[in-house]
Amino acid sequence: MSATPVIIPQANPGAGYRALQTEIDAAVARVLGSGWYVLGAEGRGFEAEFAGWLGRAHAVGCGNGTDALALALRALGIGAGCAVATVSHTAVATVAAIEMAGAVPVLIDIDPLHYTMDPAELEAVLARPPVGLPPVRAVIPVHLYGQAADLDAIGAICARHGVALIEDCSQAHGATLSARKLGTFGQIACFSLYPTKNLGALGDGGVIATDDAALAERLAALRQYGWRQHYVSDAVGVNSRLDEVQAAILRVRLPHLDAQNACRGAIAARYDAALAGGRFVPPARRAGAGHVFHQYVLRVADRAAVQAALRARGVGTGVHYPVPVHLQPAYCGRVALGPSACRATERAAAAVMSLPMYPELTESQVAAVCEAVLSV
Ligand SMILES: *Cc1c(COP(=O)(O)O)cnc(C)c1O
Repeated sequence: MSATPVIIPQANPGAGYRALQTEIDAAVARVLGSGWYVLGAEGRGFEAEFAGWLGRAHAVGCGNGTDALALALRALGIGAGCAVATVSHTAVATVAAIEMAGAVPVLIDIDPLHYTMDPAELEAVLARPPVGLPPVRAVIPVHLYGQAADLDAIGAICARHGVALIEDCSQAHGATLSARKLGTFGQIACFSLYPTKNLGALGDGGVIATDDAALAERLAALRQYGWRQHYVSDAVGVNSRLDEVQAAILRVRLPHLDAQNACRGAIAARYDAALAGGRFVPPARRAGAGHVFHQYVLRVADRAAVQAALRARGVGTGVHYPVPVHLQPAYCGRVALGPSACRATERAAAAVMSLPMYPELTESQVAAVCEAVLSV
């Protein structure tokens, strides 16, 4: 039996390329003809333009969002003998990066309304760390689905305990809290530029932002064998560079990001209006937060049945994420958890469902998704 073809996919990076195809093709051709392919003018141009757009002094490109987090930790001197607090309801990448840096993760439960780090549990873990855990040196809140974590509370807790704040902004390019861009609150902010992110390359990419010139210099060295100058490794680095083709594509896309985020917001408002009063509850908005709807996420008790019903009507859905990190085979039973043992995380993982969300969704596609959801 063949499944009904999905007419409206949940994500559509190809549509994102086609929307800017002429400009992107020209940018790629420019790089291919230039004879310079890694760490050059396009990369420097993107770093300057991204830092300017974000409102931070420095941006350093790198290979992907996972490396961005691992490099940020290493640049801060956080590795073996340190613990780092983050959440289990995230891309596995966040936790993988902590172990790549040599540190030990401790996973904090989420506030079930906004799906982001529960500050009360963070405070409990910092005040009374789990037995045997090395000292917590950094906290990585994840601005999940395009909405800010509770940075006012988390920032105050980090300051009080003297631990670094590293923002995982991989789902929140352009999102705000109290009219201030996410990625400007912590010592360092890390962004994935994977094709499906709000700002995406057409391959892998990442970028790290900071106001600290010395940190930026360390990051630039660590991403390339620890070189401060060619062929001189002052530190033990890695190879995690943003290539020129991706940088040129990102320079085409960055000026469109704010308008595309506004499109996502308009689609979310359409979904909200269609769902109002029905069996599905629209996603909660944090007071003061500018949400950029990387994902539009509903909570559904009978998820598999709802996904199948939507699929039968040609509507693709996703689950971000079906298995929390602490229950993944590679992590299960060996990662430290906060006192609530990630119970809210496990409940969310069992029920979350993402509707189609990308700026290229047409009016009629949005209407079709709304109609399909209401018919379930
Ligand atoms: C995508 C993502 C990452 C990892 O980015 P890659 O570029 O795939 O390495 C990290 N954290 C979050 C929250 C993400 O969504």
